[in-house]
Amino acid sequence: MSLGGIKYHPPPYCIVCTEKIMEGDFAMKGIIEVRARHWFLAFTGLLLVGTIAINREIAPASAADSFTVAENGARVIIIDPGHGGFDGGAVGVNGTIEKDVNLAVSLKLRDMLNDAGFSVVMTRDSDRALNDSEDTSVRRKKISDMRNRLNLTRLYPGSVLISIHQNKLAGSSSVRGAQIFYSPNEAGSKELAQFIQTECNAKLQPEKPREIVKTGKNLYLFYHAQNTAVLCECGFLSNQEEEALLSTDEYQYKVAYCIFSGLLRWNESKSTE
Ligand SMILES: [Zn+2]
Repeated sequence: MSLGGIKYHPPPYCIVCTEKIMEGDFAMKGIIEVRARHWFLAFTGLLLVGTIAINREIAPASAADSFTVAENGARVIIIDPGHGGFDGGAVGVNGTIEKDVNLAVSLKLRDMLNDAGFSVVMTRDSDRALNDSEDTSVRRKKISDMRNRLNLTRLYPGSVLISIHQNKLAGSSSVRGAQIFYSPNEAGSKELAQFIQTECNAKLQPEKPREIVKTGKNLYLFYHAQNTAVLCECGFLSNQEEEALLSTDEYQYKVAYCIFSGLLRWNESKSTE
């Protein structure tokens, strides 16, 4: 299957996140002001710059590359839209279902990365859960989904895993903002998380920046993943205003672009080391 001229690898299975993402440091709150026209212009310009930069940097591939290089010479990024199918994830105050926002942001990020020459693997690209078919209980479905997601990352050693989720904090309607978590197993994960967080802080929440957080044992995938792995909590569905923003195409593009540009900047920093 070809998407935008870039080889696309259909995943052998899809995984549904089974664990509620740690809520992290909620001390930081942000007020987001959306300026659609300004954003569109900034997005277009930065995308062009980023695309040129990555195309210039991407060839020829060498052993020093931080990404797995696919047969077509492109680099492999695994995008994991959290939840899906029977597992909706968090539900917003006005009914927004996390799995839908996760997928929408992930597909936008996929398109940006494909355009920039990366080879992208999606754990899912539709609203479905690809747990083991013999599982019938929700619990067993979630366990096999999680195991399969980890197995997928092992098919692409040296790749980069970017998992997309939305946050929720019970009892609070004011906490908001994007926050990036990282796996402790590989040094690049923390570096990448910081690059993405910096982009989010600058473009989404300049008044109340957040800090990256290391994942713990409670996050199975990130505890066991051996590749570069970050978890992007794009915002809080428990915040009515942020829930509304996250439901729009425009803001989803904005979030996806923060992740995209953070990845580009991180990759560029690796290539100049
Ligand atoms: Zn989630």
